[in-house]
Amino acid sequence: MNPMINTTSHVIKDLEQQRFFKLVCGASLTDVEMIERLTFIFTLAGAHVIDLAPSADVIFAARRGVEKAIELPETSKPLLMASIQLDKDPHFRKAEVDYNLCDLCSACVKVCPTEAFKIENKKFIYSIEKCYGCGICPQYCHVNALSMVDTKPSPKETLTEMISLGVKSIEFHFGKNFQKVEEIWTDVRDLVKKLDLISFSIGSDLLSDEDIKKAADLCYRLAGSRIILQCDGTPMSGGFHNNSKKSKIGNNSNNSSLHVARIIQEEKLPVYLQISGGTDENSFTEAIDSGVNINGVAIGSYARKLLMPYLTDLEENLNEAVMIAKTLVDSVSGISCKI
Ligand code: SF4
Ligand code: SF4
Repeated sequence: MNPMINTTSHVIKDLEQQRFFKLVCGASLTDVEMIERLTFIFTLAGAHVIDLAPSADVIFAARRGVEKAIELPETSKPLLMASIQLDKDPHFRKAEVDYNLCDLCSACVKVCPTEAFKIENKKFIYSIEKCYGCGICPQYCHVNALSMVDTKPSPKETLTEMISLGVKSIEFHFGKNFQKVEEIWTDVRDLVKKLDLISFSIGSDLLSDEDIKKAADLCYRLAGSRIILQCDGTPMSGGFHNNSKKSKIGNNSNNSSLHVARIIQEEKLPVYLQISGGTDENSFTEAIDSGVNINGVAIGSYARKLLMPYLTDLEENLNEAVMIAKTLVDSVSGISCKI
């Protein structure tokens, strides 16, 4: 057993019972109002972990959401987890605008899922804090005024800041440079000892099947047993491609979280497998039905897309918003498959 896992027994129990649900607010989303409201709703709905951008403002906003929710009876506190990149990873980027090129065509305004763009009085307005780095808007800009830039947070500085804020659950985004990951890990080893829960996000977008295995083995070697390995399919894709009831992981495409989980499962490591990236309310059942014995599911852009219409007037819409969130949380139902 990993000695680092000590103050998180309720989360470990949820993982063991294959009921673990994580809301992903987004590793780059810094819209504090949205984060506070999402955290409030998903705390009421019973989420076990809320995954956040590694920023003090974001952590404080999430805490406000949690505190407000636990004033209500029978509400449990979720763990707040911050995402940190070890190597270059698409979760850590923001859209950038070249205002000189923009001709106010409004194509990006229509496609951005978080309403980061507005045109008012013939002026283009970009609220960068709303951008979570999905990468969709540059594809719609006919004059190439939009591009994606890495946010480049330093792992050691970010981890130090998060620990000083009392955040002891961290998700490390693996990237694809194995040597760099090992070097950074050596650098942060003493800090890591202060953590209660460690997750690694391993993405199929970045790694071949063989490298997914190697990445999983390396994470286990670096951090030990009872860590979470997040099997990431197509990052941040839920809000765009997942409009039907059928989850995209059901397609068994090579680029899916289910595929990553299946590969890692074959390694038989004493770790928890949790899928993410293109996930929705069908994902847990589909994984179990196809023999992939996952411990939990994280849902991000799909959850945010479902909840967006309710966030503006939350007092009016709270019951409906919590019901929708609960459908997602309860979809991870703990029915173990026999393999
Ligand atoms: S479309 Fe995606 S990348 Fe572009 S601003 Fe919106 S959230 Fe950011
Ligand atoms: S799509 Fe490009 S040109 Fe059109 S409003 Fe957006 S930034 Fe401006």
